[in-house]
Amino acid sequence: MSMKPTLLIIEDEPSILRGLTDLFIFHGFNVDSETDGQRGLDRALANQYHCIILDVMLPSIDGFQICDGIRQRSQTQPILMLTAKNSEQDIINGLTLGADDYLAKPFSTTELVLRVTALIRRSGLPSTDNKLIISDNVSICTQKLIGTSYQQEVRYTRREVAILSYLHQQKSPVSREELLKEVWGYKSTEHLDTRTVDIHIAKVRKKIESDPKSPQLLVTFRGEGYQLLSGR
Ligand code: CA
Repeated sequence: MSMKPTLLIIEDEPSILRGLTDLFIFHGFNVDSETDGQRGLDRALANQYHCIILDVMLPSIDGFQICDGIRQRSQTQPILMLTAKNSEQDIINGLTLGADDYLAKPFSTTELVLRVTALIRRSGLPSTDNKLIISDNVSICTQKLIGTSYQQEVRYTRREVAILSYLHQQKSPVSREELLKEVWGYKSTEHLDTRTVDIHIAKVRKKIESDPKSPQLLVTFRGEGYQLLSGR
């Protein structure tokens, strides 16, 4: 890789692809692109990218299949999905399959550049103190993104580990807005919806709680936020 961050944009609409390519080149990125789903996935798996921007509706295979295919190979590849406006199901599908973030079309290009930049900045994990011990039965290697929960091996996304690492450092409940600022890297949370946080918290609970419906470790404090109660 060169010193410039490199993006892969998978988008079949020629005018949007041209616009995004020009936009990111203007902001100092190298840009690769594909207009077909399968070719996009092949390229994503053959190279390393600082971030992959994925459209949902594509020829051959769709953005969800691409996201799933990338996650089977890499838990660390930053992925942002471009979803249809107001399609809650698209958003949930994308995040469940391991996208780190999403933006609904039509989006502001300024917002897209901010999100991609934040994703890339946050994708670097600290290299010291690699083991996160949440309880006697739950621990995670924050570098390899693999942990053990109740004697089972569990794989994490980088975002999930970042959430747990941040909560682990705090001694009191953390609001969704604070998580969006500190973990997602957003400067302003005014117009952001917080479902992203809730969906990620639900995914994390499935991995660390013996009974995710009755969380004992990652606890909700009504009106305050989430807290990780460790050492039990
Ligand atoms: Ca499309």
